[in-house]
Amino acid sequence: MDTASVTLGEALAGLDRGDWSSEELVSDLLARIEAGNGALNAYLDVDADDALSQARAADRQRARGERAPLLGAPLAVKDNINVAGQSCACASRILEGYKAPCDATAIARLRREGAVFLGRTNMDEFAMGSSTEYSARGPARNPRNPDCVPGGSSGGSAAAVAAGMALAALGSDTGGSIRQPAAFCGCVGFKPSYGRVSRYGLTAFASSLDQIGSLTRGVDDATRLFFSMAGPDARDATTVTLPLPAPEACRREDLKGVVIGVPKEYFPSALAPDVRAAVLAAAETCRALGAETRDISLPHTEYAMAVYYIVAPAEASANLARFDGVRYGRRAAGATSPMDLYCRTRSEGFGREVKRRILLGAYVLSSGYYDAYYLSAQKARTLIRDDFTAAFRDCDAILAPVTPSAAFRMGEKTEDPVQMYLTDVFTATANLAGLCALSLPCAMNADGLPLAAQLIGPAFREDAVLGAAAALERAWGGPTGWMGRRA
Ligand code: GLN
Repeated sequence: MDTASVTLGEALAGLDRGDWSSEELVSDLLARIEAGNGALNAYLDVDADDALSQARAADRQRARGERAPLLGAPLAVKDNINVAGQSCACASRILEGYKAPCDATAIARLRREGAVFLGRTNMDEFAMGSSTEYSARGPARNPRNPDCVPGGSSGGSAAAVAAGMALAALGSDTGGSIRQPAAFCGCVGFKPSYGRVSRYGLTAFASSLDQIGSLTRGVDDATRLFFSMAGPDARDATTVTLPLPAPEACRREDLKGVVIGVPKEYFPSALAPDVRAAVLAAAETCRALGAETRDISLPHTEYAMAVYYIVAPAEASANLARFDGVRYGRRAAGATSPMDLYCRTRSEGFGREVKRRILLGAYVLSSGYYDAYYLSAQKARTLIRDDFTAAFRDCDAILAPVTPSAAFRMGEKTEDPVQMYLTDVFTATANLAGLCALSLPCAMNADGLPLAAQLIGPAFREDAVLGAAAALERAWGGPTGWMGRRA
């Protein structure tokens, strides 16, 4: 077994055959983490004894003849998703030392299916960022080139999967935080539709946009984890009771009869030529697989960044009010009054980007500015959603870039927040409209960095995205096939 390249599905098949045990899988990953994490900072916390004891328990269950879809499968988890008893600090000083009191619903479901929780992955503080450079625990690096960022905010999850330190990982996606790091590191990043996976136990950033999803080495693993986590939850009123897609529809081999829209607004002149070439080559493969590709327009795309950077900070400013030094985590010393306690705790506890978002959010919600900013943004959000509704009348899925360029260099955008924000221009629209979307690695560029394409599907039609991605991946020779393709 080589945990550096095995997919979750292959690892599970090996467990079923008795080729290896969960303990062996976990030990191998722990050795890789020990050797590699110092350079990449992909994991924040790993409790080796705890991971090994979970693995041994899974092995004992298997020995007794018990079976579950993920029995003994090790997963890495972003530091903003609660796993009972493990740290859950959102890579923030304000939650330093905070331990999760219970499992997030997604985690409880994966646990019930037998998953083993390896450790906590690095992220931008409170998931605000696109490079994992805004982590209070230091930046993570891109395993394909350590001078480059792994993307963010789920950069630790993407780096761990790409570097062979995890077979698969969970992330959260509010404006692109699963898909963008997946694109930069060369993993499959899948964000289900808003309402599909419970947000209970995911530390809230922007509640109308947040969604839990996966970073994996192949499309089939994304499908597997999706079916394990999805479904209604009484603890999250935004989850839907609509039926899940048919699993066979997520595992397509061709694209006959499928119409794929290619939106012109997602191919601006500033798009990096290698990204453009990789996405257009993916369109070509779609046609070779029997799909029809159609030029479409999503005319309100140009407002997406302005809308996202009003709505997301507005919701964040409300959600982060709970970190006041009283209820969770850090409490500043020496306070002379409750107000002084709040001020000191929040001043010491939050990093610069989080403070910027809270200020932005409080500003756009304040009386006198609310109508001009927040209300206008909500109206524009509806127009963006309507664009997609119209497009999906004629198309089954949409093909677009994930990011304007391949991974950028460490430090390149940290001094210019607007440049950092613009890396979300192609991903935040799916969150604003509540759609499902997937980032699929397509090729390597001349510098040895991954290039990816994004598939966007209608809300609750995860099969449209997973099925098309499965067919493309297969056409390119399986989960690692893209590595041999050039753009
Ligand atoms: N990069 C975006 C932001 O900074 C998206 C973050 C996310 O999806 N969590 O808000």
